Amino acid sequence: MTFHFRRLVAAIGRACAYFWAGPATLLGVLLSAFAGRSARRRWQDGVLEVSSPRIARWLALPWYGGGSFAAITLGHVVLGRCEKTLSRCRAHERVHVRQYELWGIFLLPAYLIAGGIARVRGGDAYLDNMFEIQARAAEFIVHDTPSTQAET
Ligand SMILES: [Zn+2]
Repeated sequence: MTFHFRRLVAAIGRACAYFWAGPATLLGVLLSAFAGRSARRRWQDGVLEVSSPRIARWLALPWYGGGSFAAITLGHVVLGRCEKTLSRCRAHERVHVRQYELWGIFLLPAYLIAGGIARVRGGDAYLDNMFEIQARAAEFIVHDTPSTQAET
């Protein structure tokens, strides 16, 4: 029997990341429970992706900064308008998943504070938010083009 120390450490690290992001993930799971009967749920690379017409209506509301969203990430749950949108936004939203794994539930207030700092500096609360800048950078790496629609 071979002992795979690196695999064990990686598995423990992943478990800790899920645990640390757990409160935000729970919030995402609770919201997804209200996604409606036609909701589509998919487990994709360790993340629950949920889409439905009801979620699309929620995301179309003028939220943070007055704009609507294509998708939103809460821990290891991504809520999106439809499956096509979830696929298009995957690289961007995975960065937010990694941010939750680092910040835990504290990402939510940190995100709002970062948006406030961006506004104080004369920028846009969404576009100039450091967490969004980091997520948009991943879009360039994967798709080589940025998305034109707001995503969180
Ligand atoms: Zn984003």
